[in-house]
Amino acid sequence: MTDRDTPRTVPLLDLRPRALLVPGAAFLPESRIASSGRLIDTRGRPLRDLRISVTDRCNFRCNYCMPKEIFDKDYAYLPHQALLSFEEITRIAKIFVAHGVQKIRLTGGEPLLRKNVERLVEQLAALRTPQGQALDITLTTNGSLLARKARDLKAAGLQRVTVSLDGLDDAVFRSMNDVDFPVADVLAGIDAAQEAGLGPIKINMVVKRGTNEHEILPMARRFRGSGIVLRFIEYMDVGATNGWRMNEVLPSSEVVKLIHAELPLVQLEPSHPGETAARWGYADASGQYDKALGEIGVISSVTQAFCGDCNRARLSTEGKLFLCLFATQGYDLRSLIRMDASDADLASAIGHIWQGRDDRYSELRSALAPDAGPGGRRVEMSYIGG
Ligand code: SAM
Ligand code: SF4
Ligand code: SF4
Repeated sequence: MTDRDTPRTVPLLDLRPRALLVPGAAFLPESRIASSGRLIDTRGRPLRDLRISVTDRCNFRCNYCMPKEIFDKDYAYLPHQALLSFEEITRIAKIFVAHGVQKIRLTGGEPLLRKNVERLVEQLAALRTPQGQALDITLTTNGSLLARKARDLKAAGLQRVTVSLDGLDDAVFRSMNDVDFPVADVLAGIDAAQEAGLGPIKINMVVKRGTNEHEILPMARRFRGSGIVLRFIEYMDVGATNGWRMNEVLPSSEVVKLIHAELPLVQLEPSHPGETAARWGYADASGQYDKALGEIGVISSVTQAFCGDCNRARLSTEGKLFLCLFATQGYDLRSLIRMDASDADLASAIGHIWQGRDDRYSELRSALAPDAGPGGRRVEMSYIGG
């Protein structure tokens, strides 16, 4: 990562952000926030979902995420000592759970590139909510190493996986990952995940108009009735390197229309608050949702903002807390940890940060200049995790 790409950091110990500035406070705000299992931000949104990026590296170069021209051999990735250790991640995760987090997603970069990531899964799987419940632990992967790792991940306590797959046609897939990786190997990874019981599996397909929209129907046909939930994601303006243009976004409404014309769909209720995907079920001959045929999801991050119930926090590979996928600054929890902050200090810092949150970039997007984040250079998706 070059200096130019390094997102702004809010060091919690000295340059505290406005939300943390309390006159006279020497360290962190004097008012202490203890974990109560429920933290609410300024827009009434609870903290429920923590996404943890375990590496900023990846073996793919999807041009919408890590374009080759930027992420080349000279690109400065984080040095090993900058990364949070598994113990540090677990310690922070435990505090988030005490604040109300119920779901943890491991991501990256490519999370399966992080050495022994299954040890981290094991540690996270041992955490319990204040009510004594196990967490919902999942992982998003490009699937390239899944055939090798699925069984170990399951044994370590991972419940399910989301696999990214942008098409079934080998030539399209190879050109989208831009490292000539064959689609057959990812499909083998998905099979291995199914056999290992890492389900229900979700598949994420980023749709870029003019690049892979002709793969929508083959993907829908392939996964209908398979027990796998296929989700179509609108190509987003995350980061600052992918050269995003609105005319390459295919609105989810068009995806639904296209599939519905061949494979009739009915709209389904959200399964839980804060769900990113709108759900559509395949209909039977009488027009009713047929569970055996399953469902698809559409994530309309560009055309239909869903910030209103966004309950997701993101922890970067080097321990910065981000409150929005489109944030330009993170809060440096690693410094706190490495300066011997107590769990109560950490809990209070996280409490203040979340209580001060008012991010809603997608809702504001249309009012902003095309490549302007809210006040600075946006953080890359491969760094913060999806
Ligand atoms: N490497 C893993 C993978 O690809 O699944 C995990 C990290 S990746 C950043 C997480 C998700 O973000 C993937 O499903 C990917 O397709 C999605 N993603 C990355 N860049 C995107 C963009 N510009 N627009 C929409 N989705 C994007
Ligand atoms: Fe790697 Fe995932 Fe980004 Fe593709 S989307 S470059 S697989 S991190
Ligand atoms: Fe959440 Fe930010 Fe996405 Fe809105 S733009 S849904 S606040 S991550």
